Amino acid sequence: MSIQIRPAAIAGLKVREFEMLIDGRWTGGQGGIIERVAPGHGVTVSRYQAATELDANRAIAAARTAFDTGPWPRMTGAERSNTLLRVADLIAANAEELAWFDAVEAGKPIAQVRGELGGAVDIWRYAAALARDLHGESYNTLGDGTLGVVLREAIGVVSIITPWNFPFLIVSQKLPFALAAGCTAVVKPSELSSGSTLLLGRLLIEAGIPAGVVNIITGTGAAVGSLMTSHRDVDMVSFTGSTGVGKLTMRNASETLKKVSLELGGKNPQIVFADANLEEFADAAVFGAFFNAGECCNAGSRLILHRSIAEEAIARIATLSAKVRVGDPLNDETQVGAIITPMHFDKVTNHVAAAEAAGAGIAFGGGGLDLGMGQFMAPTIVSGVTPDMAIAREEVFGPVLSVLTFDTLDEAVHIANDVDYGLSAGVWSAAMDNCLGVGRRVRAGTVWMNTFMDGASELPFGGYKQSGLGRELGRHAVEDYTETKTLNMHIGARSTWWVQR
Ligand code: NDP
Repeated sequence: MSIQIRPAAIAGLKVREFEMLIDGRWTGGQGGIIERVAPGHGVTVSRYQAATELDANRAIAAARTAFDTGPWPRMTGAERSNTLLRVADLIAANAEELAWFDAVEAGKPIAQVRGELGGAVDIWRYAAALARDLHGESYNTLGDGTLGVVLREAIGVVSIITPWNFPFLIVSQKLPFALAAGCTAVVKPSELSSGSTLLLGRLLIEAGIPAGVVNIITGTGAAVGSLMTSHRDVDMVSFTGSTGVGKLTMRNASETLKKVSLELGGKNPQIVFADANLEEFADAAVFGAFFNAGECCNAGSRLILHRSIAEEAIARIATLSAKVRVGDPLNDETQVGAIITPMHFDKVTNHVAAAEAAGAGIAFGGGGLDLGMGQFMAPTIVSGVTPDMAIAREEVFGPVLSVLTFDTLDEAVHIANDVDYGLSAGVWSAAMDNCLGVGRRVRAGTVWMNTFMDGASELPFGGYKQSGLGRELGRHAVEDYTETKTLNMHIGARSTWWVQR
């Protein structure tokens, strides 16, 4: 069994009441109040406004006006860049408060969230740099009579919808790039973890972002999601969440042919060859599967092990799993926090039970941990999994690792690709032929070689197949929030149509 850290009652807890940010003002909603019960502590920690379509309409109207007539899209890149740098500094200065909300509301280990906040600061700074470098193209090669200039213009109003698992990090993968391009936005965080995004609203105002440029509404996707993704005044939707809601988002946006960017689920394989460094791999396997309690689109939830080393690899991973510290999200020592809701806990444990019923075995863990409050699950290794089992194909989104085996590189690549998802993958081998052989053939947006889940603001992130559409981060991230416009300029006398005949 893993090491357990029993949650302590939250010291000095005062339930925090939040309003929404619309047109530069903090405001109530029309749909009542949503209470967030902390998944690791079982007590109410925050109260949010439940937005209705009326509120969403106001937020979209404010963003539209700020885009059509406000100063933000008309500023120089340098002015926008300086504002984004101020936001980055304010995030860094307020990191502890932001981290507390993500830890408590999403059940994430506080030490981990501090790292995510550091990553978010870096992304805001990176987007600030890109704001000054956004440019189009010119064509001086079209003959004496023509000059072509391709402008990049901000796309307009963007609806940004984010999930609960990395509340601050994911809004930071979208909003700074939209702002760098000159867009305005309506942001809706998950109803389960809205605190850090609303606190960001305060920091945006402090940094000098004009009223209406960023509007933050809270509440359920069911209440406002369809309006945010179908409204004719919204030009683009940037969504991170489940593949099911991603498909719905695309359907809703199709009526007005909006641009859609989707970051969705994953069932990410790690392929391990016989010559891999098993000590390093075992650590990465435990990290990849149990980081963020496995509630991670990038989770390395499928191990595809060469048959000759499978037994040893599973034994090593089980040994390390016993050292993982599960429990109180607010304890600095915790590595795996709480499961987001009781309903999600049931979904994860049902997946494990179904795998057992289908003939798989439990090599480690397998169920819930009673830590006195909240809902927690033991890191779990399911062995003897075959590619046809649901646990090998469906996203579990919990701390559950499925282990499959292979004999040849071709078979490993086939198993890796034979699912609906294609977000990321890992390959472990001392031989370049194996690493590149898999790296070039696996259909995934990111492939790690002899490491797992490393990232950098410079590196694009996104999925193949049903894991998404488009890429975030990287130097093209700002361009995603733009349209191109061709200026075709004529120089000198123009020959007429009739003369040409
Ligand atoms: P959901 O798809 O349920 O929700 C994501 C967001 O969409 C939430 O803000 C939700 O609001 C909102 N939403 C719900 N219904 C609608 C709708 N009809 N129209 C528009 N928006 C709607 O995902 P979860 O929050 O449960 O997050 C977990 C999922 O996200 C996992 O499947 C995971 O793989 C994926 N994910 C993908 C990532 C990636 O980058 N590829 C990163 C992180 C997560 P509310 O919940 O408040 O009702």
